[in-house]
Amino acid sequence: MLYSFSYYKPKSEIEIIETLKSFGDDAKILAGGTDLLVYMKQQIADPKVLVDIKGVPDFSKIEIDSSGNLIIGAAVTCNDVVENQYIRNHYPILATAAKTIGSYQIRNRATVVGNICNASPAADMAGALLVLDSSVIIATEKGNREIPIKQFFVGVKKTSLQQNEFVKAIRVRAEYKDAEAGYLKASRIKGHDLGTCNVALSRGKNGTVKIAIGSCNITPVLLPDFDSTNIDLANILTTAMKNIKPIDDLRGSKEYRKHLVQVFIKRLLNGKGHSH
Ligand SMILES: Cc1cc2nc3c(=O)[nH]c(=O)nc-3n(C[C@H](O)[C@H](O)[C@H](O)COP(=O)(O)OP(=O)(O)OC[C@H]3O[C@@H](n4cnc5c(N)ncnc54)[C@H](O)[C@@H]3O)c2cc1C
Repeated sequence: MLYSFSYYKPKSEIEIIETLKSFGDDAKILAGGTDLLVYMKQQIADPKVLVDIKGVPDFSKIEIDSSGNLIIGAAVTCNDVVENQYIRNHYPILATAAKTIGSYQIRNRATVVGNICNASPAADMAGALLVLDSSVIIATEKGNREIPIKQFFVGVKKTSLQQNEFVKAIRVRAEYKDAEAGYLKASRIKGHDLGTCNVALSRGKNGTVKIAIGSCNITPVLLPDFDSTNIDLANILTTAMKNIKPIDDLRGSKEYRKHLVQVFIKRLLNGKGHSH
């Protein structure tokens, strides 16, 4: 059962900030609610005020900025990404990762931004966005600030967002348009369970290989860049093992996770899991 709470649906960015300021710690941003409402029902979270960001029309847009970067607004759902032809053509790893999230019904509500703001180590969009060198556009009382997504995750379910701030969009670099990239995930049950582990890999036009690993540490992990002209598999696998600290839980043992990470890295380096 859900307890009673206040609900606000501001129509502008400024109104959202003002509402957050008025209620302080009592308020929480609501996007699709696929994480937050579950936590409220389970009494893991108990905000007294929900501030729905879906009332700002621009937040539902997928756009290209003047420098050719892809902008994904705060209310864009995972299904919007799966079905967007521009993303499928030029950043297919985003559609691939989004399609692994929950079920069709969940993806119709779940936003990409909510997925990273929830900051689960297993968040499927995190790895794909990390290997595309994306950044997070944050609305604050003093205007926008933008940070690399690798600085956004600071702990289990913890982000670097400060009081009265929220994420208005994600910027994906044009430099990664048409980059070769792939995503592999293992999970016990499709549609009802978070991943046991996931790995994303990109080969940028600048000659770097980026690899991100999920469900194997307190945050999604981005490994240091590798040189794509001189792939040293042993070094990549050793670096991956040094940077993860998987745990044993109901989804798998730490040994199984370490094994999966190595298998997935090898497969991705061989072009498996790539959408084109
Ligand atoms: C059955 C089921 C299966 C699932 N399977 C998967 C899966 O396979 N993979 C996966 O990664 N996830 C999965 N999830 C989790 C969930 O669907 C995703 O994390 C989803 O993308 C969260 O987005 P949302 O819009 O629903 O966020 P919400 O639930 O609305 O919000 C999540 C959190 O982020 C905060 N937040 C949201 N938007 C913003 C913003 N713009 N600025 C600041 N804070 C914000 C909220 O305050 C809240 O703390 C599953 C969930 C369910 C219920």
